[in-house]
Amino acid sequence: MMRIGIPRALLYYECYPMWKTFFEELGAEVVVSSPTTSEMFNSGCSRSIADICLPVKVFCGHVLSLVDRCDYVFIPSICSVEHKVYSCPKFIGLPDLVRATVPECPPILDPDIDVNKGLRQLYHAIYKLGRPFTRSPLKVKKTAEKALQVHRGYRAQMQRQGLTAPQAIAKMFPQSEPEIEDDGFASDMTIALVGHPYLLYDEYINHRLMLRLQRMGAKVLFPEMVAEEELRASICQLVERPYWSYEEEVIGAGGYYLQSDVDGIISVAAFGCGPDSLMAEFLQRHARRMNKPFLNLVLDQHTAETGLVTRLEAFVDMTKRRGNTQVKSFYLSKLEEEGQEGLRALGIPNMANLAAAFRASADILNVSLIAPPVT
Ligand code: SF4
Repeated sequence: MMRIGIPRALLYYECYPMWKTFFEELGAEVVVSSPTTSEMFNSGCSRSIADICLPVKVFCGHVLSLVDRCDYVFIPSICSVEHKVYSCPKFIGLPDLVRATVPECPPILDPDIDVNKGLRQLYHAIYKLGRPFTRSPLKVKKTAEKALQVHRGYRAQMQRQGLTAPQAIAKMFPQSEPEIEDDGFASDMTIALVGHPYLLYDEYINHRLMLRLQRMGAKVLFPEMVAEEELRASICQLVERPYWSYEEEVIGAGGYYLQSDVDGIISVAAFGCGPDSLMAEFLQRHARRMNKPFLNLVLDQHTAETGLVTRLEAFVDMTKRRGNTQVKSFYLSKLEEEGQEGLRALGIPNMANLAAAFRASADILNVSLIAPPVT
C-alpha cells in the first residue's frame, strides 16, 4: 500500500478531510505529520531564508518530519480555486520551494490547481494525481466527487455546529487529531479570531491562543463558524469582490464579526505576509470607525510567549471594562446630574500621578472633570 504524507500545516485544516478521502478511496494510506513541535519549527526555520513567512517555514519542518515515513508527499501548487481570485505566490510555488529546501523529500505529488485555465485543465490535473494509484479515469472522477462531497459536509458541520476545524476533523476521523482539551471554562465575553486556519489552529506558533483566551473567560469564535453566504456578503460590502483566496477568513469573517455582537476581535497575521498586512490594516481601520475593540497580533519566528500573553491580557481587560455597564452608567448619570447631556466626554486613562497634572490643567481651562471610579 502506498503511503502518502500530508503535512499538518498550511491548507491542512482547510482540506484534510477531502484529501484523506481522495487518497484512501484510491487505496493509499495517509500519513499525517504530528502537531508542530519545537524540533519541526527549528528544522523548518533552519532550511528557509529569513524573509519567508512563518507558516511556510513551519511547513518545511513538517515535510522534514515525513521524510522517512511515506512514499510520496502531497503538496499541491494552488494558484486559484475561484475564477480571478488568486492564492499568494507561496502557495503557487510551494512544491518547488520544498524541493529546493528539503532535497531529501520523497517524490512530490504536485497537481497544478488553477481554475482560470479552464475546467479541462483542472480535470486533467486531478486525473494525473490519481494515476499512480489507478489507470481508470472513471474511478478517479468518482473518487474526486466523493472527496468534494466530504469537503462540503466538513464545512457545513463547522458552520452548523459551531465547531473548530480540529474538532470537526476529530469528529470525522477520531484517530487524526490529538485529544482536544475541553475544560468547560465559564465565559463572560465573546472574542472572534480572524486569520488563516494555519495560524489560528497551530497551537505551537500561536502559543495556545484559544486556550489562553478561554482561561481569561472568553468564548472564542472562528471564521469557519460563519456561513459562506455571510462571509461573501461581508466581502462584497467591504471590498466589492475578493482578489485573494482566503480573503473570506480575514476580510469576510472580520466584516461579519464587526457587525455582530461579539465583544472584541483579534486578527492573527503572519510576519512577512503581504496579503495579511493589507487585510489586517483594512479591518483595523474599520474596527476603529465602528468603535469595536480590535487587536492585531503579528506572529513571527521570534514572537515571545510572554509578550503575547501581556498583550492578550491587556486586550481582554480593556474589552471587559469597556463592556462594564456600571462604569458606563457612572459617567452618564454624572452628566445627567449636571444637566450636561450634550457634553462630549473625553476619556483619559489613569496613569500614576498624571491625573494631578490633568486636574490642574482642567482647572486652568475652567473645565469640570468627572473623577473615574476607583479601579
Ligand atoms: S498568505 Fe501570507 S502567511 Fe499565507 S503563505 Fe502566503 S505569505 Fe505566507
